[in-house]
Amino acid sequence: MKFAGPLIDEATIAGVADVLRSGQITSGPWVERFEAALSKFCEGRPVRVMTSATAAVEVALQLCGIGPGDEVITCAQSFFTVLNMIVKCGATPVFVDCDLVTRNIDLAQVESRIGPRTRAIIPTHWPGSLVDMDALHGLARRHELRVIEDAALVIGSRYRGRPVGAIGDLVTFSFHPNKNMTSIEGGALACNDEREARRVDVLRFHGIERLADGTRDVGFPGGKFNLPDVNARIGVEQLARLPEFLAHRRNLVLRYFERFPANTDCVLPPRPVDGDGQSWNMFSILLPDGLSMSRKMFRDMLLTRGIATGVSYEALHLSTLGRRYGYQRGDLPNTERIAERTVTLPLHAGMSLDDVDRVCDACADVLGR
Ligand SMILES: *Cc1c(COP(=O)(O)O)cnc(C)c1O
Repeated sequence: MKFAGPLIDEATIAGVADVLRSGQITSGPWVERFEAALSKFCEGRPVRVMTSATAAVEVALQLCGIGPGDEVITCAQSFFTVLNMIVKCGATPVFVDCDLVTRNIDLAQVESRIGPRTRAIIPTHWPGSLVDMDALHGLARRHELRVIEDAALVIGSRYRGRPVGAIGDLVTFSFHPNKNMTSIEGGALACNDEREARRVDVLRFHGIERLADGTRDVGFPGGKFNLPDVNARIGVEQLARLPEFLAHRRNLVLRYFERFPANTDCVLPPRPVDGDGQSWNMFSILLPDGLSMSRKMFRDMLLTRGIATGVSYEALHLSTLGRRYGYQRGDLPNTERIAERTVTLPLHAGMSLDDVDRVCDACADVLGR
């Protein structure tokens, strides 16, 4: 059993074949359709698609004018993207810790690390519970900081009834095959207004600006991040099916809560509550501290029972790159404990309730030894 993966139907596969036959295979009408659908999803805010969420974070940082001498506060319990893109833009990452259960960024620590060079905050939203957006954006407004919400894992989650991407400042999504919906590779950036979106058009395509005389100019070394129509064709269909995917994922998570063996001392994610508006991209548990076997052994034993698992995520501040900024073990205890004890169990739209039962039985068997 895979631990993540896409569900692509025959109509989409036929649609991709049509795009391939059309001859218009890189960015074109399907990108426009995908962006229009995403913009509608974000309650009318302009959205631009790109080749990945990583590209979207890089472009968002450039859009904010962040570079050398600037600091960006982010959570060390996240994917490498946030660290890499802050460093790539020439800025300095400032890491703070997260909550042990929700894994969301600790906003009190964010406030305590704001200084004269701070320009932005990049929080990563976790499946099952979003960052407290009122507190986050209130804090950002008080200190005149930009916010780039890393919403790679949570497209379809709602905050006070409104979808992530419709509110706040800049928001990035991922359409990697392991996420809630896919375009093979792909990502998106939700912007505040058309002026920002037009700047994103430039930044994602070489930095090229078109001049009145029909020639081109560049004033900034832009990337080459435009999404092909082949990918956008898949994205359009996937976005239409997102509610169905999310409903199924939620049922699988409810089954995990029903069937996961009790009394194992594992820390489970926050339990779903009716009407909470949360989406579930991953079901990540923390193994008990007192467990006699290593995480590697636990994962290997599940694998011999045909069950693949993941690690989400390693501690960014303890990576070789993160340590260059002076961080060491012990700095961010919750992040480090999660990094050492987390296991992501299988969860994807192609799974059945029986599959969840098989995973839970295997966990009971392995943990019971
Ligand atoms: C997957 C992921 C990313 C990167 O997404 P790509 O589209 O692969 O670049 C960034 N942040 C988080 C939290 C992710 O899970």
